[in-house]
Amino acid sequence: MAEFHIKRITLPSGKVVELVYLQTGWSETATVETADEAGTTAEPRLHVRRIELCPQCGSDRVHPLDWREVEDMRWELDVRCPDCRWAGGDVYEQPEVERYDDVLLAAAGDMTEELDRITRENMAEHLERFRAALDADAITPFDF
Ligand SMILES: [Zn+2]
Repeated sequence: MAEFHIKRITLPSGKVVELVYLQTGWSETATVETADEAGTTAEPRLHVRRIELCPQCGSDRVHPLDWREVEDMRWELDVRCPDCRWAGGDVYEQPEVERYDDVLLAAAGDMTEELDRITRENMAEHLERFRAALDADAITPFDF
């Protein structure tokens, strides 16, 4: 199912750039449209690459190893795919990097949620075992 995501970035020049991208599959691409303060939209200007997509296996978990600003608003990234161990890198425009940063932040949030869920599950399991042991009189004061 196609899901559109829109992100607005205000560049130092004051120009507002609107990123529109699809969150369906790795072959989907994104376009950037520029808009002035009045909100009128110009033709798509920049092809935004989805840096998190692996060109080798199609995984969407490509993560950065290193990055440096090569010139104003352009970044060189070394990236790696954890699924097939592909590694590469390229120079990316600021909107591409900002979008990638959002993707990484969202993924970090998902991982934190998953960790919380697993922690709660483990605690529930420990509690259940403890309760069963108490019921069976298998725990004595000497256990503490
Ligand atoms: Zn890969």
